[in-house]
Amino acid sequence: MGFDIESMQKIGTMAGSGGVIVIPEGTCMVRALSVLMNFYAHESCGQCTPCREGCGWLAKVLRRIENGQGRNGDVELILEVCDNMLGRTICPLADAAVMPAQSFIWKFREEFDGHLREKKCPYGNRF
Ligand code: SF4
Repeated sequence: MGFDIESMQKIGTMAGSGGVIVIPEGTCMVRALSVLMNFYAHESCGQCTPCREGCGWLAKVLRRIENGQGRNGDVELILEVCDNMLGRTICPLADAAVMPAQSFIWKFREEFDGHLREKKCPYGNRF
C-alpha cells in the first residue's frame, strides 16, 4: 500500500500534511492523544470559538483522563466537542485536531475506558 491520498482514503484515514508519527507498541494511546491535543491547543490562534475553546477542552479532558481523574461521560464529551468543532472554523487546524481525536477513540476505545475504570493510567505513563 502506498502513502498517497487514495490509499489513505481506502483505509479510512488521510494523508494530511504528509507527516508520519510512529508510535511504539505498548504506548498509552490516551497519553499520545493528550500530547497531540496539547499541541493543537497551543497552536490555535484563537480567532474561531470552536477551535479556541474546543482544542483547550480536548486537551483538558484528556489530561484528566490520563491522570486518573476522568469522569463518567468524558469520552462522550470529547466526541461531542469534536462534533461541535468539525467544519466550523476558518482554517483546517480545528479539523486536524478533531480527526485524530475521533479516530483514537474509535480505534482504541478500550484504553480510554480502562483509564476511567481503573482511575489511573494502566500503562504507567505520567505527565
Ligand atoms: S481554526 Fe484556524 S483560524 Fe480558527 S482559531 Fe483555529 S487556528 Fe485560528
